[in-house]
Amino acid sequence: MVSLNTDLDTDIAVVGAGIAGVSTAFFLLKYTNQRVVILEQRKLAHGATGHNAGQVVAQFERPLTDLVAEFGFNMTKNALHDLQSGWILLDEMYTDGNLDILFSRTPRRRGFSDLYQILLALKDMEIEKMAGLPLNEFLISDTAPFLSSLPKVFEKFYKIVPHAMVLEKLETKEKNFHAVVTDQAACMNSALFCQEIVAYLFKKYPERFALYEDTHIIKTVLKKNHVLLDAGKHTIHAHKVVLCTNGFEGFEIFNEDGLEIDKRFHHLITGKVGYMSGYLEDMNKPPTAINYYTSDADPLSDDPYYYLTRRPHELGDKKHNLVCAGGPELEIRDREEYLHDYDYPERMQGDIDAFIKRVYSVDADQKIEYEFTWHGLMGYTRNRVRLIGAEPKNPVLLYNLGCNGIGIIPSIYGGRRIARILAGERLERSIFDPQVDVKR
Ligand SMILES: Cc1cc2nc3c(=O)[nH]c(=O)nc-3n(C[C@H](O)[C@H](O)[C@H](O)COP(=O)(O)OP(=O)(O)OC[C@H]3O[C@@H](n4cnc5c(N)ncnc54)[C@H](O)[C@@H]3O)c2cc1C
Repeated sequence: MVSLNTDLDTDIAVVGAGIAGVSTAFFLLKYTNQRVVILEQRKLAHGATGHNAGQVVAQFERPLTDLVAEFGFNMTKNALHDLQSGWILLDEMYTDGNLDILFSRTPRRRGFSDLYQILLALKDMEIEKMAGLPLNEFLISDTAPFLSSLPKVFEKFYKIVPHAMVLEKLETKEKNFHAVVTDQAACMNSALFCQEIVAYLFKKYPERFALYEDTHIIKTVLKKNHVLLDAGKHTIHAHKVVLCTNGFEGFEIFNEDGLEIDKRFHHLITGKVGYMSGYLEDMNKPPTAINYYTSDADPLSDDPYYYLTRRPHELGDKKHNLVCAGGPELEIRDREEYLHDYDYPERMQGDIDAFIKRVYSVDADQKIEYEFTWHGLMGYTRNRVRLIGAEPKNPVLLYNLGCNGIGIIPSIYGGRRIARILAGERLERSIFDPQVDVKR
C-alpha cells in the first residue's frame, strides 16, 4: 500500500482504515456506484482493530435499562435488532471475500459474582425478551448467598443449578462466581479480516477503490455539496467524507457553509487505553470467550470486568491455543496524549497475571510466559452508543465511530447503515443517529 503522493478527487473519502473504515468501504462499493478512497494516518488495521480481544458479540456496553430510559423502548428494541443484523453482515463479508481465515463460533460465558450484577443482567434479559430476541441460558448456583433476594418476577429467566456447574462453565475455581449467562459469540482476528477484505476490494473494484496509508488528515473543510481534506502536502476533494477514526485524532473540522460544528460535542468523545496480555497453551480445549465480573468490580466503574478469549494460533509448525486476557483500562484526558508505541506498564501486566492465576484455571504457582502484551485506544461517546450517520449541521460529513469497548459488530453494522444513507434510503430514526440534543 502507498501513501498519498498527489492531489485527489473522489466521491466518498473514508478516514481511518480500521474495521469501521474497511466495512464502510465494503458496503459503499457493493451497494452504490460511488468511488471510495480510504485515508489512513498509519497502517491498515493498526488502531484498535489490531489491538482487541477478538470477541465478536452483538451487545451494548451499557445496561439496556439505561438505553430504554434515554431513548425509549422502541428505539432500543430496533437498535438491538440492528446489532444482531451485524452477524449476517459479517457473514456477507466473509462470503463475498471468499475468506478462509479462522472464525471460531463459540458460546460466550459471562460470570457474575454479586447480586447487583445479576439483577442488571436479568433486567437486560427482560428487555431482550420484550424485544423478541431469543432467551439466553441463565444459571444461578444453588449456594448463592442472595437467592432469597431475587425478585419473583425474574424467576422465569433463570435455572438454579449446582454451584460446580456454574464454575465448570466459567472454567474457574474461584468460588465467588454464582451465576453464568451463555450467549452466542465468535472469536476472530479483526486485523487479518481487514487485510483480507481490502485485498478483495482491490481486486473486485480496481476502478473505484483506493487506500492510502501514512496519510494523516489534519483538517477537513465542509462546503455545501462537497468537502476538502487537508493531508499536509496534498488535498483530497470529495462529495462526502465518512469519519471512521475511532474518535477524532489530530483533526479539525471547519463548516464553511453553515453553523459551526459543535466542538464541545466532538470533544465529548473521551479516550481509554485498554491493556491485554496473551500466552500460548496446549491446544486441548475448544475456543471460548469468557467475561468475569469479579466481586470487587464495580459495574459503574471504568473497568468492570476481565475478559478472556481462547482461540487456535499457529506459531511456526506448531498449533497452540492463544489465551488473551484484558480488563485494566486507563482513562486519558486528551486522546492525543496516547502514544501507540509507549511501554506496557508492569502494573497492568501484574493485574492481568494475578487475574489469570486467581480466576482462570491455571495453577497459582505456574509461571506464565506472556508471548504478547499490548494496549489499544478506545474512543468512548458519553452515552456509550456508537455514532453512525450524517452530521445534522452539514450532511456532507458522516460518522461511523465511537468504539465504546465492544466495536467489531457495531462497526460492521455502521458500515452498512452509512451505505444505505448514501444510497439515498430514508431510514427510521435510530439511537445511533448523531443528534445535536443527545448528550453523547
Ligand atoms: C484492548 C482492546 C480490547 C478490545 N476488545 C474487543 C472485543 O473483544 N470485541 C469487540 O467487539 N471490540 C473490542 N474492542 C474494540 C474494537 O477493537 C474497536 O471498537 C474497533 O476495532 C474499532 O474499529 P475502528 O475502525 O472504529 O477504529 P480503529 O481500529 O482504531 O481505526 C481507526 C483508524 O483511524 C485512523 N485515524 C484516526 N485519525 C486519523 C486521521 N486524522 N487521519 C487518518 N487516519 C486517522 C487511525 O490511525 C486508525 O487506524 C477492543 C478494543 C481494545 C483497545
